Amino acid sequence: MRTCPKCKKRISPLYFGTACRSCGADLMYYHFEERLAEDARKAAAQEEKGRRLLNKLPLHRKNSGLKNNNNTDII
Ligand SMILES: [Zn+2]
Repeated sequence: MRTCPKCKKRISPLYFGTACRSCGADLMYYHFEERLAEDARKAAAQEEKGRRLLNKLPLHRKNSGLKNNNNTDII
């Protein structure tokens, strides 16, 4: 559940506006840099996880290569 970073009121997941309906705080840019750093940390962790997974599955790369070859043949 999202909450307003300023007044801590709940924000409906169906509400896609950029400003809190209670206090008018800008939800997009309030603490934006903080969240950006958090996102970067998560993305780095996710990437590391994905790389380990790919290393375990060498067939994945092979299959995507075959797909590309088929596409160029059709064209
Ligand atoms: Zn608010």
